[in-house]
Amino acid sequence: MSTFKGKIDEIPGISVDCFLPNNYDSKAFFLSHFHSDHIRGLYEDGADFIIKRNLPLYTSALTKEIIKRKNPVLAEQVKEMDIKHPNSVTVGGIILSVTLIPAGHCPGSVMFLFETKASRILYTGDYRIGVSDVRKFRSFYDSLGNVKKIDKIYLDTTFFLDSYPMFPTRSESMSVISKLITEWTSRDENNVIVLQLSANYGYECLFKDIYAMCKMKIYIDEQNLELYSLIPQLDGCFAIDRHDARIFCKNVPFPIAQRHIRFIKPSAFRWTNSEKKATSLKNDNEGETYYVCYSTHASYEEGLAFINCLKPQQIHVCVERENPVENLHIKQLIHQALSAATRTNEAKRIKLFNVKSQNSIYPISKS
Ligand SMILES: [Zn+2]
Repeated sequence: MSTFKGKIDEIPGISVDCFLPNNYDSKAFFLSHFHSDHIRGLYEDGADFIIKRNLPLYTSALTKEIIKRKNPVLAEQVKEMDIKHPNSVTVGGIILSVTLIPAGHCPGSVMFLFETKASRILYTGDYRIGVSDVRKFRSFYDSLGNVKKIDKIYLDTTFFLDSYPMFPTRSESMSVISKLITEWTSRDENNVIVLQLSANYGYECLFKDIYAMCKMKIYIDEQNLELYSLIPQLDGCFAIDRHDARIFCKNVPFPIAQRHIRFIKPSAFRWTNSEKKATSLKNDNEGETYYVCYSTHASYEEGLAFINCLKPQQIHVCVERENPVENLHIKQLIHQALSAATRTNEAKRIKLFNVKSQNSIYPISKS
């Protein structure tokens, strides 16, 4: 859960993913995605502040659509930005180039690559992309094809701990979940699935993929239906009448009490390095519960590869944990990752130098 307070130290006058009063001197706001920990303060006084001061709120087209459904007045202030191509904005006299990069976290989620004359900053928001994805985005490369120098990454550190080394890809997790659903529901018409979801948001892709892969609608409670129906990509995924559904989220009443239930709990938090498999099964008095490793955030090794690829000078931790010992450990791991990235950078330079000198078109001086 993001604990980022909104300010980018290197670029005065802007705030990102935080609308609390400490940001009320900002002249422009940026929103990476519409999850509650990234819109803190927006529905207290933040939205009013932006509307009354007539300030811009920059985001992706899909997040703009969500805001339009939630708050049409605030949507008037929203400026949709082009994805993958640099957008130019002026904030407090500073010309800022902003490139939105798909973050692979939820529909519409983006990273922001901010470039000024003085600095280049990457704010990841919540992300789960691999190095192969980084290579697809030209914005990370200069005209010679070299990775641009990045001064600082404001990093999603949700799972940047060596106790979370690897997660299955989301499609691997979805393949497990869809098999568990179809196998159980096709066995008996009284069999139903209950999804045990630990958070109140962040399951957009899960719902979308279940509907696409299993061709079954999901019944969720009214409060969540209101939240998720803001997202155009989820239109049609949810059952209006619970009698039409075979998949339920926890806490919704079933139409028939004696239905046979299979519980599925998609989560990443329990999948520390002690758990080697992507699925585990627990039987108790209530029935079968299948735990499936499912993550919309980068694992530790994905984070390391990301840092090693982009080689930033500094990293700002955007997800601080309650446990100070864990926070200290995250900072130590980041320090190690930055040192390792610098070493590979040096090694690469030496290699390039050798190759160049061997193929040099200039005669080698014998003096
Ligand atoms: Zn999120």
